[in-house]
Amino acid sequence: MATKLTTREAVNAFIDRHDTFLFDCDGVLWYGHTLIPGVDKTLELLRRKGKRILFVTNNSTQSRQAYTKKFEKLGLSASENEIFGSSYAAAVYLQKVVDFPADKQVYVIGQAGICDELDAASIRHNNPADDSSTIDWEGVEAITPDPNIGAVLVGFDMEINYRKLAKAYVYLASNPGCLFLATNDDASFPHHGRTFPGTGSMVAAIKGCTGREPRVLGKPHQTMLDCIVAKYDLDRTRTCMVGDRLNTDIQFGVQGGMSTLLVLTGVTSEQELHDARHNITPEYYADSLATLNMADTA
Ligand code: PLP
Ligand code: CA
Repeated sequence: MATKLTTREAVNAFIDRHDTFLFDCDGVLWYGHTLIPGVDKTLELLRRKGKRILFVTNNSTQSRQAYTKKFEKLGLSASENEIFGSSYAAAVYLQKVVDFPADKQVYVIGQAGICDELDAASIRHNNPADDSSTIDWEGVEAITPDPNIGAVLVGFDMEINYRKLAKAYVYLASNPGCLFLATNDDASFPHHGRTFPGTGSMVAAIKGCTGREPRVLGKPHQTMLDCIVAKYDLDRTRTCMVGDRLNTDIQFGVQGGMSTLLVLTGVTSEQELHDARHNITPEYYADSLATLNMADTA
C-alpha cells in the first residue's frame, strides 16, 4: 500500500530519509510550458535543506543546455550538471559504456537534443534534417549498407519518414554489429491535456521491420540509472524517484532499489493508482510535488 503524504509530520519524515531526489519533469514540475503551482518553492526548500536534486526526463528533443533555458524561463534554477535527459543518456552510453569507435558514425533519427549531446561528446553522426525530404524508388535503391555506421539511435522525431526508416532498416539488417539504441520507448505522451504518439511508436516501426530489439536508455530501463549512478555516485537507499507515471518513473525507481513518490499532477490518476490490475506501487504518493511545501523550513 502506498502512503499518501498529507500531514506536515509525514512530509518532514519523508524529506529527512532522503539525500537525493530524482525528478521526472513533465507532469511533475511543469505541463508543457506551464509551471505546476508551488513547485518553484519546493525546489528552493529542498535545496535549502541541502538535498541533491537531479532532473531525469525521457524527452530527447532538448540537450541539457537547452533544458537549463527552459528551467530559467519557468523561474526554476537548474544547472546543466543537474539535468539528465535521455539524449544525454545516449551520449554517455556510447562514450562510457560501449566506448564507441572514433572512426564510426551514429545514424540518428531524432531532433536537435540528440545531435547536440553527441556533438558535446565528440561522437560523429548524421544530420537528421538531411533526410527530411520525401523519397521515390530511385532514392530507396540508393540506400546501401554502410559499414561506417556503428549505431542507429532513435529518439523523438517529428519529421520521421520512409527515407529514415529505410536507412535505419538497411544499416541494422545488413550489419549485426551495428547497435540499435533508443532514447526511450514511451508509446505516447501527454500534451495540452491530450496524448500523442511517443518515441516508442517510432522505435516499434524499426523493431517491426528488422526483428531486432533496441537497447533503450530512458526510464524505466535500468541502463539510464546505471549511467546516473556512475556519474553521481548516489546511495540508492537514500534516493527518491519522483514521477507522475507508474509504468515509467515509478517502475524505474522500484526496479532500481530507490524509494518512490508518485505525484497526481500528471499521467497517473488516483483511481488508476488504486486499480488492482497493475502491479506497480509507489512507496509514497501526494496530490502534487508542492505538497512538500508544508515541511518545516528549518
Ligand atoms: N518524449 C517527448 C517527446 C515529450 O514531449 C515528453 C513530455 O513532454 C516525454 C517524452 C516525457 O518526458 P518526461 O520523462 O519528462 O515525462
Ligand atoms: Ca512525466
